[in-house]
Amino acid sequence: MTSTEASPNPLLNAQQEIHKAVQALNLEPAVAAVLSEPQIFLEVSFPVKMDDGSIRVFKGYRSQHNNSLGPYKGGIRFHPEVNADEVKALSIWMSLKCAVLGLPLGGGKGGVKCNPKELSPRELEELSRAYIRSISQIIGPEKDVPAPDVYTNPQIMAWMADEFSKINNYNTFGVITGKPLEIGGSAGRSEATGRGCVFTIREACAKLNLSLKNAKVAIQGFGNAGSVAAKLLHQLGAKIIAATDSSGGAYNPEGIDPGALIEFKKQTGSVKGTPGTTNITNEELFALDCDIIVPAALENVITDAIAEKIKAKIIAEAANGPTTPEADRILQERGVLVIPDILANAGGVTVSYFEWVQNLYGYYWTEEEVNNRLEEMMVRAFNNVYQMYSDKNVSMRQAAYMVAVSRIAKAMKIRGWL
Ligand code: NAD
Repeated sequence: MTSTEASPNPLLNAQQEIHKAVQALNLEPAVAAVLSEPQIFLEVSFPVKMDDGSIRVFKGYRSQHNNSLGPYKGGIRFHPEVNADEVKALSIWMSLKCAVLGLPLGGGKGGVKCNPKELSPRELEELSRAYIRSISQIIGPEKDVPAPDVYTNPQIMAWMADEFSKINNYNTFGVITGKPLEIGGSAGRSEATGRGCVFTIREACAKLNLSLKNAKVAIQGFGNAGSVAAKLLHQLGAKIIAATDSSGGAYNPEGIDPGALIEFKKQTGSVKGTPGTTNITNEELFALDCDIIVPAALENVITDAIAEKIKAKIIAEAANGPTTPEADRILQERGVLVIPDILANAGGVTVSYFEWVQNLYGYYWTEEEVNNRLEEMMVRAFNNVYQMYSDKNVSMRQAAYMVAVSRIAKAMKIRGWL
């Protein structure tokens, strides 16, 4: 990161973005003051008995940012770098993401400072159950509904839902989303982020009069979100010309079958070396002569230097926070349409919302119903943001923040909080 760029502290970044949106909307400064901090922040520490008989004490957090629109919603991260400011910032982004999609939910986030790769399956289960016991008083289907995030998965959600159900003496599957299908998970959840991202790309292409048929696409981060986006874009006629993962990348200007990339990665652990492709680095991928780039890996990969080299017309942020603030400014100046993360990757939380609704009703939808409802909500959200972008002559990112902040501010006002 260069010295011209914003603070690496994600909480300060989130607070700055909120202040900008409040100013651009001409709202009272109290809105920014309220939205700059979580309403509730819980820090817990709890013991876990390890396989060797020793006791280790772990630190965990749950941040409940704003519930003016509905119960708090947001994932639980297990990672050695988890810290209070990161969890608070992520909970702010969840409030904004839910609001931009028009979901009746607020924002929350949780985390445990641990390295799950060093834990045995039994230790991981113990830790997951102990964390949920520690935060059980502040979560619940009507209060706060967690979900998976980095290094947590459907099995961990199942243990957590089970532990919460035991505490309450009845099945409470609606307390958590991202569960396995067998205990109240939703059809379509695993593909939701990539699918939602593709709906926003399709809408953006229509606005730019860019045909998706034969459009050249590069995918940075060929994991869950990236591979699903590649598969669906290919089905719509686009050409996937490059894909990278943490071990390297594959490139063919004539197009690569995403099925071949998925299969090769399954066999070897990487897309690098897929037959019929040449090797490519992330830096080379971003500079390719292509129409659409989907960053679907980690934060801060599009720096100011990379932004100067980008030739694509659309960047769809499947990943959270892939573009640094300075790069964002450069891309806007250069006329690249950036579909911001809080819109482009909101398909995941939208289907999590569907899962929660299905749990509360005890009535389950087919995958087709889930996908149709997802499409309707993603298209509506894209159009709301695009309208703000056109009306106010701001970036798509600022437009998304403005749509979200104005919805939360209205709810707070109506409820008499301001
Ligand atoms: P994943 O672990 O399935 O995939 C991540 C991919 O990124 C992997 O293929 C990995 O090899 C690759 N990667 C890691 N480092 C890289 C590097 N330096 N260069 C290129 N590739 C690299 O994760 P995912 O669930 O697909 O999530 C990807 C991004 O999308 C994250 O930012 C995540 O926060 C965001 N996201 C995911 C969801 C979801 O529902 N899965 C929802 C919202 C946002």
